[in-house]
Amino acid sequence: MRAPTWTEDELILAGALVVKNGWRELRTKDPEVQELSELLRSLPIHSPDALALPDFRSPDSVSRKTTDFMSNHSLYPGKATRCGKPTLLMIEAFTDREAEMLEAARAIEEGIASGELYGIPVQPDEIDDTGAVAIEGRLLVRRALARERDPKLRALKIKEMRRRGHALRCEVCDFDFARTYGDLGEGYIEVHHVTPLYTSGPRKTRLEDLACVCANCHRMCHRSRPGESWRTPSALREQIRKSASRAAH
Ligand SMILES: [Zn+2]
Ligand SMILES: [Zn+2]
Repeated sequence: MRAPTWTEDELILAGALVVKNGWRELRTKDPEVQELSELLRSLPIHSPDALALPDFRSPDSVSRKTTDFMSNHSLYPGKATRCGKPTLLMIEAFTDREAEMLEAARAIEEGIASGELYGIPVQPDEIDDTGAVAIEGRLLVRRALARERDPKLRALKIKEMRRRGHALRCEVCDFDFARTYGDLGEGYIEVHHVTPLYTSGPRKTRLEDLACVCANCHRMCHRSRPGESWRTPSALREQIRKSASRAAH
């Protein structure tokens, strides 16, 4: 078995190291590289087969990855090393939205350090059916999905909407299950995080962190495209607006 390619989670952590080092590579002996190698090996996303490989995420391989980040950056004057598309997309993400990506790295590190991310079971669609995952990685998606699936939290959100006299409508497209399906749709709505993956943090999800969405919009919020984030309801609304204005031209 060959070492599996680097996942988004791992690329985020390596990318953050390089960015904090001024987009310069780090050597194998660097204590930060040693530390990252250990952290990567501990992430609850690897198969036992991968972990058994002698060079799997060794300090050498981590150092090589930092070289990929440095040398494939558009401002690097020298020759670029060869690396895969996911690394190039991650370089782009760190270049375009450095603060957010550093936040995502911090959220993963915190969740690992506190043990929280080890305690969440694998969620069925943390990787979507095309095999893609949000650029922020599987672990933050896993945490958000686990929270959204909590039936108690969803029931509380629905109760609160009703208490405030709000109809259960999709906050993105206005779809109302009861209006279309009658009794059958009564009381049905799904919930999705209003905040991006990296901001939900270790604190408990509050009701105002959740939006009510229909099943279609919810799917589109979660649909992964390489190099893109999980969509929040407002990002999805923006997507609909853009696509409508394109259709109008
Ligand atoms: Zn909708
Ligand atoms: Zn969701």
